[in-house]
Amino acid sequence: MHGLMQDRPLTLPHVFHRAERIFGHKSILTATVDGESRVTYAQWAERVRRLATVLDTLGVSAEARVGSFAWNTQRHLELYFAVPCTGRVLHTLNIRLFAEQLQYIVEHAGDEIVFVERSLLPLIWPLADRLPGVRHWVVIDDGADTEIPDDPRVLDYEQLLAVAEPFDGRFTVEDEDTAAALCYTSGTTGNPKGVLYSHRSTVLHSLISLTADTLGLGERDRLLPVVPMFHVNAWGLPYAAVLCGADLVFPGPAMRPGALLGLIQRHRVTVTAGVPTIWLGAVPLLGDYDLSSLRMVLGGGSAVPKSLSEAWRTGAGLPITQAWGMTETSPLATVASPRSHHDGLGAAALAGVRASQGQAVPLVDLRIVDPESGAELPWDGTAFGELQASGPWIAAAYFGGGSDANSFTGDGWLRTGDVATIDAKGFVRLVDRTKDLVKSGGEWISSVELENEIMAHPDVVEAAVIAKPDERWSERPAACVVLAEGARLGTEDIVAHLTGRVAKWWLPDEVHFIDEVPKTSTGKFSKKALRERFYPSGVLPGA
Ligand code: AMP
Repeated sequence: MHGLMQDRPLTLPHVFHRAERIFGHKSILTATVDGESRVTYAQWAERVRRLATVLDTLGVSAEARVGSFAWNTQRHLELYFAVPCTGRVLHTLNIRLFAEQLQYIVEHAGDEIVFVERSLLPLIWPLADRLPGVRHWVVIDDGADTEIPDDPRVLDYEQLLAVAEPFDGRFTVEDEDTAAALCYTSGTTGNPKGVLYSHRSTVLHSLISLTADTLGLGERDRLLPVVPMFHVNAWGLPYAAVLCGADLVFPGPAMRPGALLGLIQRHRVTVTAGVPTIWLGAVPLLGDYDLSSLRMVLGGGSAVPKSLSEAWRTGAGLPITQAWGMTETSPLATVASPRSHHDGLGAAALAGVRASQGQAVPLVDLRIVDPESGAELPWDGTAFGELQASGPWIAAAYFGGGSDANSFTGDGWLRTGDVATIDAKGFVRLVDRTKDLVKSGGEWISSVELENEIMAHPDVVEAAVIAKPDERWSERPAACVVLAEGARLGTEDIVAHLTGRVAKWWLPDEVHFIDEVPKTSTGKFSKKALRERFYPSGVLPGA
């Protein structure tokens, strides 16, 4: 028997129209090169309507992919809604990609038009002649003094908006499974792969960010998304904020820790989100700002070291809340806030809970699987295997790439490429990326855990553990360590610090002291670069 409820599509037009009607007074602020600009939701909504007309006037086709190459700003948020609310697909381009990768993804996505920030023109305009499919390059003038090319393909965002009539009426997208946005994975191996979000997945994902045990985002919040809007749609937070009418504070191009902490202080930001590298850079400055308005600092994209979260707890009064996810999971899949069964735990044990990846959010199913036998493993907190995920905002296939057996199982689950344990209460602990595990004498060593322990040393800023090829053991751990300014430590100090904290056979064979851990375009440790630097001839599993 069927239920007798109305069948209404879950689409972004609903989110837009709701915000326009009831949150018109709420505010969207953007840091600019020479200050700050602020609009109300009502003003923003009117601009979204104008932008919708611009897309039609320029002849952008009905299901076009529309590229954005932009900072986190109010104007980027205009694209976030005008593009999908008119049935088109917003393709947020990662501004840190190399030229060849950029060219590849613009071509692969079939972008017809690209909106590019003036300051970012030098990174992408040189590709224009190699991208004949892109008919228009619309420059968003962010106040930089970069020269604007004199070329008929180049248009000005504000001029287009100024002459456009606002679209009149309600946006409609009939089918909730219509594509809304496209993000390519950072692709540490092989070509980047496109993840194509639908209206339905985006709305459901936004809704989950509003629930109390996840992020609990609400109308009273003032959200500062530091994670780039090209990285999994800033973790879906801009959509979630508009759904609940939260005030938004966008950092624009100013991503230095001091600028971000200044925004938090000045605008009494309540929730912010970014990768651990950003929060690490802010640690030395925490005492210089009033951060008392914050109720949540979200960290994810790579493991949040216990020492980092604790540094925030002591320096800013609140620890970092860790979340785990991937481009393929929209990304919110787990959140590590302590639950009632953790009540009564001491500070150290709670810090341990926060250093895990946490519990799956509602509607996401997880399992761990033995990669060899394919058998599902028990949730006992010790058995570890490949983490697989399933749910309404988890990719079923890649754009233009079909359903690839390395990425999806026969029964339609996503193979995350992460290795994890899950405890009896569903708390996930990531052990490693499949390809980063160190296999020594047939036994696995978790590089993530070893890094966490090394980073607990007060003189260590960052540590990345990689596998060093070894004749006897096949692989042994090697640590690449960045020391705090002025600190002097040798290999023996690191080993002495680790002794008693980890099993003896986990102690690294070599310690390389480096100036900086190389990072990928989304701010993760690039272990590939470290392996190439220190063990270029090493044949490593999955490398
Ligand atoms: P991306 O698709 O670029 O966001 O990368 C997703 C990958 O980042 C995951 O598969 C994990 O390996 C890693 N990752 C994301 N969040 C976390 C986290 N909280 N802890 C550890 N690794 C993470």
